[in-house]
Amino acid sequence: MSSDAKIPQPLPATRVRTPEGTKLPIYMDNHATTPVDPRVLEEMLPYFKEKFGNAASRNHSFGWVAEEGVETARARIAKLIGATTKEIIFTSGATESDNLAIKGVAEAHREKGNHIITAVTEHKAVLDTCKRLEKYVFRVTYLPVQKDGLIDLDDLKRALDDKTILVTIMAANNEIGVLQPIAEIGRLCRERGVIFHSDAAQAAGKIPIDVNKQNIDLMSISGHKMYGPKGMGALYMRRKNPRVQLSPMIDGGGHERGVRSGTLNVPGIVGLGKACAIAQEEMPTESIRQAGLRDRLRDRIMGKLDEVYINGSMERRLPGNLNMSFAYVESESLLMGMNDVALSSGSACTSATIQPSYVLQALGAGDDLAHSSIRFGIGRFNTEAEVDYVADRVIETVERLRDLSPLYDVAKEGVSSKDVKRAG
Ligand SMILES: *Cc1c(COP(=O)(O)O)cnc(C)c1O
Repeated sequence: MSSDAKIPQPLPATRVRTPEGTKLPIYMDNHATTPVDPRVLEEMLPYFKEKFGNAASRNHSFGWVAEEGVETARARIAKLIGATTKEIIFTSGATESDNLAIKGVAEAHREKGNHIITAVTEHKAVLDTCKRLEKYVFRVTYLPVQKDGLIDLDDLKRALDDKTILVTIMAANNEIGVLQPIAEIGRLCRERGVIFHSDAAQAAGKIPIDVNKQNIDLMSISGHKMYGPKGMGALYMRRKNPRVQLSPMIDGGGHERGVRSGTLNVPGIVGLGKACAIAQEEMPTESIRQAGLRDRLRDRIMGKLDEVYINGSMERRLPGNLNMSFAYVESESLLMGMNDVALSSGSACTSATIQPSYVLQALGAGDDLAHSSIRFGIGRFNTEAEVDYVADRVIETVERLRDLSPLYDVAKEGVSSKDVKRAG
C-alpha cells in the first residue's frame, strides 16, 4: 500500500434506501463472471441426466444424442461470429484458448519466424503466454496504448517485420471495456500474411463480431463471461483463406480434429451454445439497454461528485462497462465501505502490497488515480433500480471517505495534493 494510504475506517450505516423489490447484495461485476442464465441451465440439465452419453461413442444412441447436442451448440457458436461449424474447437475457457492459439501458432510456424506482437493491456492469459514464449526462441513486441486505451495502428505497422508470425490483440478489454480497432488490425495482418488472434472473452455476445469481415484467424471465447457455464470455452480457428495451422497443446484421443484431445464436456458445450444463441438474439436490444444504464450510472455519479475521472474511451467501449477513478479515495476503502454491492477495484492484492492495475498504468493514469479506480460491470440481470442504488451508495461512500481525507480538504482550499505530499 502506498505510504499515504489510510487505514480503512468503519463507515456509519448507509442512509441510502434499498429500492423496492431489489435484493441485496447487488451483483455489478459482470466482467469477472456472469451468472448462468436460467434458460442456459435448463438446456444443460438433461445432459447431466438421461443424455449422459460420450459424444465420441459411435455405436449407440447414447453417443448419438450427446453428439447431436454438441453439434447444435457448435452451429450456434459459429453463427454468432460468422464462422462455420468445422472452425469451432471446444476448450476449458478463454485462458486455454489463448494458450492454444498463441503457443500453437508459435510452435507450428517456428520455421517461418519467431516474432509475436501483442499489447500491454492484454489479459494475463495472453501476456503470460507471450512471456513464456520469450524464454525460448521467440521475440515479443508489447504495443503501448494511447490515453484512451486503444493501440495506435501506426505503432502496429512499424512493429510488423518479416519474422512476425502472429498478432494477438483483444477485442474488448476486461477492465476498461475499450474496443480495439479489430477490423483495421485484421486488414493489416491479412495484407502482410500474418496470423491474427483476438481474445474476445469480453466481446463475444456483447458486440457484433464477424470473423470474415474483420479478418480474424483465431478467436478465444469464454462461457462464463456470457451467461454460460464456467470452465467452458471455444477457439475459433480459420479453415479457409488462409487455413490456420497450429500445434495442439493437449495430445490424446484426437478429439476436435486433433487440435484439442479429451472427452467433450457435453453439458458445458450445450450451455455455451445456448448462451451464444440467446446473446445473438438479444444483442440489439440488450446493448442499448445496458449502455443506457451505464450512462445513467455515470451521469448520476458525476452529477453529484467532483474529481471523478473516466478511464478509457467512452465512445469505443462495451455497453455495460464503466471504469472510474475517484480522486482522494482508495478504491479498496471504497469497496469495503459498500459491502452490499459487488464491484471490482482496478488493483490486485498480493501478499503485502496493493498493485495498481497495469491496464490503468498503461493509460498513464498515474499511481494515485490507478489506486482510486472502480470497475462497474453492468449485465443482463441488472435493473434501473439497482443502478440507482449503486450510484447513491458510491456517492455517499465517496463523500464520507473524502470527509475523512485531509488531502481532499487541502485540495478544496486550492492547494494541489502533490505539494502536500512532498511537504509531508
Ligand atoms: C475472463 C477472461 C479470460 C479468461 O477466461 P476463462 O474462461 O476464465 O479462462 C481471458 N481473457 C479475457 C479478456 C477475459 O476477460
